[in-house]
Amino acid sequence: MCAYRHGQASSRVSEAFAFGPVPSRRLGRSLGVNNIPPKACTYSCVYCQLGKAVSVSTQRRAFYPPEEVAAAVQERLRAAYAQGQGVDYITVVPDGEPTLDLHLGRLLTLLKRLGVPVAVITNGSLLWQDEVRSALCLADWVSLKADAAGEGPWRRVDRPHRALRLSQILRGMAAFREQFGAFLATETMLVWGANDSAKELEAIADLVASLRPIPLTSPCPSGRRRRAGYCRQRRAHCWRCTPR
Ligand code: SF4
Repeated sequence: MCAYRHGQASSRVSEAFAFGPVPSRRLGRSLGVNNIPPKACTYSCVYCQLGKAVSVSTQRRAFYPPEEVAAAVQERLRAAYAQGQGVDYITVVPDGEPTLDLHLGRLLTLLKRLGVPVAVITNGSLLWQDEVRSALCLADWVSLKADAAGEGPWRRVDRPHRALRLSQILRGMAAFREQFGAFLATETMLVWGANDSAKELEAIADLVASLRPIPLTSPCPSGRRRRAGYCRQRRAHCWRCTPR
């Protein structure tokens, strides 16, 4: 239950808007941001950890004042620093779809002033809207869901709102790839018997390749293994050499 909506104490509000930092395989130490009410999403994925009570909608709305969310994040950031904890990324990763927030652009602008790179994890279903793409372009790192490239598997796995069209979403993702100049990642969940046929796997691979995400590993001339990750020295997402 979201403390903000039920008018509880301000510390509870901060907790509802910001959490962590927690260790993240892709983002180092990540401080999470909750910018929408729990379980509000455009999809109702079969594997969703939020359970069946997801409220499925495509209507973007103003949920919380972005200034209050950013203030809660700043408070959490200060508390982490005071405890000697580093934060590599501020990550907008609510229990639902973050682009449903009409104020996402303003929120990202405010979060970027906190001096830590900002990431957003989205299912990408609203990327066909110009204003959603423009807002996400403010982030330093964006992850898009790529569970399916075909209509049947998409409906079986992601169970989208009836107003959504896969072709429109795929065009939106392609347009975002051209607009977005920072680090793009994708994530795919394979579900037994739903999107794991050879044909669908090939189609997903083509989709991911077309989005040109940062690869997780790459050969390095020095002979060392390289891995995409957060570089504390450069304070940015980049190649990170790991010991042989
Ligand atoms: S997109 Fe994410 S939050 Fe939404 S239903 Fe799927 S797994 Fe759950």
